[in-house]
Amino acid sequence: MSTHTDRVVVVVGAGVSGLAVARELASDYDVVVLDKGGVAADTSSRASGMISLSLEPFPDGWADFALEQFRALDGRGIFSFTERETVRLVPESDAARYTDEAPEGGEFLARDDLEARYPDAFGDLSAYGGGLVYEGTGYLDALDYAMTLKWLAEEAGAGVFRDHEVTGLRVDDGAVVGVETEYGPIDADHVVYATGWKTRELLADYVELPVRPLRWNAVVVEPDEPLSDSVPLGSEPTMRVYWRPTKRGDVLVGGNEQLLSDPEGTSMGVQESFRETVLADVAPLLDGVDEGTVRREDCCPTADCASPDGLPIVDAPAAAPDGLVVVAGLHGRGVMLSPVVGRAVRSLVTGEDAPFPTTQFELSRFEDRSATFEYRSHWE
Ligand SMILES: Cc1cc2nc3c(=O)[nH]c(=O)nc-3n(C[C@H](O)[C@H](O)[C@H](O)COP(=O)(O)OP(=O)(O)OC[C@H]3O[C@@H](n4cnc5c(N)ncnc54)[C@H](O)[C@@H]3O)c2cc1C
Repeated sequence: MSTHTDRVVVVVGAGVSGLAVARELASDYDVVVLDKGGVAADTSSRASGMISLSLEPFPDGWADFALEQFRALDGRGIFSFTERETVRLVPESDAARYTDEAPEGGEFLARDDLEARYPDAFGDLSAYGGGLVYEGTGYLDALDYAMTLKWLAEEAGAGVFRDHEVTGLRVDDGAVVGVETEYGPIDADHVVYATGWKTRELLADYVELPVRPLRWNAVVVEPDEPLSDSVPLGSEPTMRVYWRPTKRGDVLVGGNEQLLSDPEGTSMGVQESFRETVLADVAPLLDGVDEGTVRREDCCPTADCASPDGLPIVDAPAAAPDGLVVVAGLHGRGVMLSPVVGRAVRSLVTGEDAPFPTTQFELSRFEDRSATFEYRSHWE
């Protein structure tokens, strides 16, 4: 496959990041998405689909932009976005700090008020003083989302190709001229690498990226009776777990993040200790779930991709060849941030301003770009 126009963008990686980029650019450029596996076959299809933008410390404008896109997409293709409040449980010992002032975007409810507001949601909350309630949150099915992005990108003219491994970047005179693939070269004016944790090693000859592989676990528990429609999303900070209802009335519980030194040499099944925590400690917090059975277990097929400050890198780095854009470091937030990432890449390729701040995406914020940084969890 070889193309010859001056407006070709090759996107490497068909996860939610690459597909969101393709969707943003497909109506104005010839966009080709190449993935060595399948669509969303790596980390993206395993995401829990929590859209908890209002809980996260993102720059102004990111959450609103992403939410607007999820709402606008709801009902298109096979995609649906279910808006639900999120309750972050507050241990009894911490409750006093929130009674006068809740963190931005949150409302503190004491335990009795929480139970009254969500009568069908909770089980034994005796260890908790209450909860912080956030609006502007919800959930989606990450695979349905990815397939819908693919469909929209293709409808706008993009080509999305599975089983096409990119084996190298082609550079001439300081500028990108295409990629090398297992089936031969492809010409391009812009190349976007959205290859998750692999991006560091794939681009090592051109730019140093401070990212590290990291794993998450998720377990789906089927309660005796399907959960009621009004059950909110939730999280518990001492166990560092989150949960959400599923469309069929099960509950998906995720957490247990850990850095990995050798993702390809690590067994990626859900760890037994996490399964036990979910059944012994998380399930009793939820109404009707403590007698539930595990329906599904998920982990990353390889790994998610962590950055030192928990925010992604979306940049056309000054020292890299012209025309190269990198997307990496989205751990735990890659789905919820994908609309922002897609538009930020559009802005880098077209030169248009993005409708939100983008300096927080820049690689230049890191002086040390080694992959030995100390990981900072989103929970801290
Ligand atoms: C269990 C779990 C739960 C999660 N829950 C959430 C959540 O609730 N909300 C949220 O927002 N995020 C969540 N995440 C994080 C989210 O899944 C990721 O941040 C996101 O999927 C990253 O998407 P990506 O497209 O950047 O990378 P990936 O999905 O990893 O995609 C990279 C793609 O690049 C391809 N590739 C790599 N090398 C090459 C090559 N040489 N040539 C061609 N293709 C290549 C791979 O095959 C892969 O398809 C979760 C992650 C896990 C594992």
